[in-house]
Amino acid sequence: MLLNIKDLHVSIDGKEILKGLNLGVNNGEVHAIMGPNGTGKSTLASAITGREGYNIDSGEIIYKGQNINELSPDERANEGIFLSFQYPVEIPGVSITNFMRTALNARREYKGEEHISAGEFLKKMEEKKKLVDIQAKLTKRSVNEGFSGGEKKKNEIFQMAMLEPTLAILDETDSGLDIDALKVVANGINTLKSQDNAFVIITHYQRLLEYIVPDFVHVMYDGRIVKSGGKGLAFELEERGYDWIKEHA
Ligand code: ADP
Ligand code: MG
Repeated sequence: MLLNIKDLHVSIDGKEILKGLNLGVNNGEVHAIMGPNGTGKSTLASAITGREGYNIDSGEIIYKGQNINELSPDERANEGIFLSFQYPVEIPGVSITNFMRTALNARREYKGEEHISAGEFLKKMEEKKKLVDIQAKLTKRSVNEGFSGGEKKKNEIFQMAMLEPTLAILDETDSGLDIDALKVVANGINTLKSQDNAFVIITHYQRLLEYIVPDFVHVMYDGRIVKSGGKGLAFELEERGYDWIKEHA
């Protein structure tokens, strides 16, 4: 199993948010995590990536057979965990190109490998730009500075394509993306998906799941996964809303 989360309890500022969450993800699988606002979906993403301030009170996050509770966010990223942020940060003065080169080289250093050559880097940039249909002028601009919502999404998917993560977690904005941005996300995932990686897609609405077919759908409520099923569960939620889930909780 690539990711095995066992009875995870996470608190922020002493407030318990995740209250005994279990989740298992195998290579080659796409999991969707749905649920009402404020149930801890983004907290789960932050806990997996090791974001500061998210305290693991008990339970285990096992990734590639190892407990990663104590690993730093950088170490987790270097081990192939990628998080697409719900609210991407702007990095003025740093172009996407330079940002990507730095990120790739940081991981190579971690693995004891040589820096990527200029030629290899450019080749990879071209290949991945095509994949997400990103404009050349966008990669020359500062990371996310003045980007539209759709451009930020494209940039994130581009970063994901460049980094080729083993476990990618995508936390979607609850306000929703427009159809073009949804298609960029879906196309990116569908193209990058392989037997050697896995995706966890966090989404409040099932719209995205019209473009990406998940193998499993989980519903979160009050800090736990209270129901799991196949892709049909997403459609059931769309029809019936979340109220009936509370009875399962
Ligand atoms: P979701 O992504 O499902 O909407 P979140 O994980 O963002 O839910 O939030 C779960 C709960 O944690 C909410 O009650 C929210 O108010 C609380 N929370 C999230 N971030 C913080 C924080 N930095 N400090 C205190 N409480 C927080
Ligand atoms: Mg959220």
